[in-house]
Amino acid sequence: MKINVSNSALELSRIVQGMMRLNQWNFSVKETENFILKAIDLGVTTFDHADIYGNYTCESLFGEVLKNNPSLRSKIQIVTKTGIVLPNKEKRRIHYYDTTKSHIINSVDQSLKNLNTDFIDLLLIHRPDPLMDPMEIAEAFIELHKSGKVLYFGVSNFSIQQFKTLQSKLSIPIVTNQIELSPYNLEHFQNDNIYFLLEKNVNPMVWSPLAGGKLFDATNEKSIRILTALKEVAQELNIDKLDTIVYSWLLSHPLKVLPISGSGKIERLKNAIEALDLQMPRELWFKIYKAGLGHDVP
Ligand code: NAP
Repeated sequence: MKINVSNSALELSRIVQGMMRLNQWNFSVKETENFILKAIDLGVTTFDHADIYGNYTCESLFGEVLKNNPSLRSKIQIVTKTGIVLPNKEKRRIHYYDTTKSHIINSVDQSLKNLNTDFIDLLLIHRPDPLMDPMEIAEAFIELHKSGKVLYFGVSNFSIQQFKTLQSKLSIPIVTNQIELSPYNLEHFQNDNIYFLLEKNVNPMVWSPLAGGKLFDATNEKSIRILTALKEVAQELNIDKLDTIVYSWLLSHPLKVLPISGSGKIERLKNAIEALDLQMPRELWFKIYKAGLGHDVP
């Protein structure tokens, strides 16, 4: 259930719980705590945040739980992100990226306050910044690492070249690239990121594994096509949960990805966990892959 990410000493749960939608679940602090406790019972100990989630509110909603129950901190791993700036009536007019040293350090200090913790297990640069200065990011990472505020570092939504450029200036390894991947989004097969990460032994975290729910809404030709394939595979494997099939499709890949479940329903997190025991036969894996592609393989 646990994985040493990219052969580092960083141990995360293979299934991660995403907290991006926490502000939409309308949980009380107690309900959030119960949700976290149930996730931990299921073996899901890693929680994925970003400074901006819920318009800068989700980290604090989670932090309320840690304030009331500080003993939880030693049982979980916290991932958070920096680098996106959202508009704010008083200070900022537009949505943009900021990966300057001062922004990264200030944003981590704010995340630590919000989350009521004194360290972050894994910090990611949320999006590639066209103005990124890899030397500045490296300086920020080293400072955060030396002070013990952040243990490990990674990126998100980076291309192969963006990953290589940043890594070339860093003395510490980039342990993950958090990318979007699902039968609905095969982009990283097509741009070779998957093969690059395989070469480098980097385990990616995978966001929107269910395409944010689009896989099940049958609102367009592509989702209908994938849904049909999922139902056929479910029947062949005698499994009644289609989300378990999707998680198995992701977990069966040799890259050993860490899917991030975005649901606020513990039953759906259980469906993800069940996929850990389900090896998807190659033939059925391809049925789903081809439904996502929309055509046969050559
Ligand atoms: P997801 O698991 O693909 O989607 C979750 C959404 O799908 C929820 O609204 C959920 O609703 C719905 N859903 C789940 N199962 C369903 C089902 N069987 N039928 C219908 N709807 C279903 O993941 P995500 O929330 O888009 O992303 C997961 C996490 O990835 C986020 O929390 C965040 O931590 C991370 N993320 C990272 C980036 C990045 O740029 N790095 C971008 C986006 C997200 P219910 O809650 O009602 O189950």
